[in-house]
Amino acid sequence: MSKYEPVIGLEIHIQLNTKSKMFCSSPNNPDIAEPNTNICEICSGQPGTLPVANQEAIEKSILLGLALNCEIAEYSKFDRKNYFYPDLPKGYQISQLDKPICGKGGVKLITEGRPRNIRITRAHLEEDAGKLIHPAGAKHSLVDLNRAGVPLLEIVTEPDFKSPAEARVFLQNLRRLARYLGISDADMEKGHLRCDANISLRKIGGKGLPPYKVEIKNMNSFKAVEDALAYEIIRQEEELEDGKKIFTQTRGWVDNKKITTEQRVKEGSDDYRYFPEPDLPVLHFTKEFVEKIRGRMPELPERKMMRFVEEYKLPEKIVAQLVEDKDMAGYFEGVVSDLQEWFSADETKDERLIKKQIGQAANWCTGLFTELLNAERISAKESKITAENFAELLKMIEKGEVSKTAAKEVFAEMFKTGGDPSNIVEDKGLKQVSDTGALKKAVSEVIAVNAKSAEDFRLGKKQALGFLVGKVMKATKGQANPEMVNKILLEKLK
Ligand SMILES: [Zn+2]
Repeated sequence: MSKYEPVIGLEIHIQLNTKSKMFCSSPNNPDIAEPNTNICEICSGQPGTLPVANQEAIEKSILLGLALNCEIAEYSKFDRKNYFYPDLPKGYQISQLDKPICGKGGVKLITEGRPRNIRITRAHLEEDAGKLIHPAGAKHSLVDLNRAGVPLLEIVTEPDFKSPAEARVFLQNLRRLARYLGISDADMEKGHLRCDANISLRKIGGKGLPPYKVEIKNMNSFKAVEDALAYEIIRQEEELEDGKKIFTQTRGWVDNKKITTEQRVKEGSDDYRYFPEPDLPVLHFTKEFVEKIRGRMPELPERKMMRFVEEYKLPEKIVAQLVEDKDMAGYFEGVVSDLQEWFSADETKDERLIKKQIGQAANWCTGLFTELLNAERISAKESKITAENFAELLKMIEKGEVSKTAAKEVFAEMFKTGGDPSNIVEDKGLKQVSDTGALKKAVSEVIAVNAKSAEDFRLGKKQALGFLVGKVMKATKGQANPEMVNKILLEKLK
């Protein structure tokens, strides 16, 4: 049992998906392959140019701030953060020092069944820098400014995380939130969501923050964040146990070696000589303006999860999968609404059947449908299968018109062509034979040809039944309703 507990805080940059960059009208498309094509005089830092703040970026920041229960500043301003680096042609980055757009906030986090409160310190807007490219073997470096000036929202949390898993879950929730709000793809692998973590250890039960702080950088996936923090806990514990003093420092995560390495030790904070950006006016957010933005807030994932569990009586695990992706959640509700139309048209009041069908819809959505969508890298919204056809197929399975196995084939075809399930079943000859007369005949024939197996079964060899079912299925080209075949066989073998 360890004597120490970790104190973890996060600093997250979210790249906002605005149409244009933060302070100019260059397109916000930093992933474009051709270097230095999405640039202009402003974002390439040429003298005599003036920045203009991007309203869309500001509104998206406020929307996220509201979702994180942050105070929205009445007045906010931009500041210059001065430092020199070749990817920053102006010699300063426009950021926000003491008047960020979003102030204190907080969210509930549930991990391992424990609800925890994570406080948000602040969230501020800033511009991204360009990218340096170091060609292999060359004695020079290149700079690509396509990313320079892209809007970033930096979110800083209080050191409230008590385990690496909590930090990972928080980040995953934040990605989901950003996608729900439509403000960013928040893809960590693509750098749309970047995370630095601060971690230090204190004696269990100790009060106050430890005298040092280790910052970890270069983590490009949720797993890397969790692994890097777990690694640091062990490393720091060993140092402290050896009686060593840990200095405040920056370390980089080396993913292929699963270790952190020292980048620099710092005494005191960096001095960026911040001063108010003289070329941009102070921002004033009226209550009406903030409320107007709040009005755009969609139903947030946590609330949606609670509603799905309540309304559709689904297990939490399945609901979590459905709600992870806003498009999928919406699609699922579309299928359910079509099923409900069917229930009311048929005057179905059988609660068990309704629950079963909704459960089936959830299983198909999170199962084969998700599999096919992932393979094509498209969202539920982009699929060719309409909610109506989806529901139609579920009805056909329920009515025994198509077997579950055949339904998978039908579904894959619907996914490919957007076709109607009943047409596909017809065209492919997949209609399930539930006609008792036809099945009885097929069963009798199979028993006659496989008299030995039938005898084996009567003598207690249970496996023989499966063999006979298989023979009937084969004889009917897979179109027989297997449950009925089973039943008829048992009757005839008595
Ligand atoms: Zn520009």
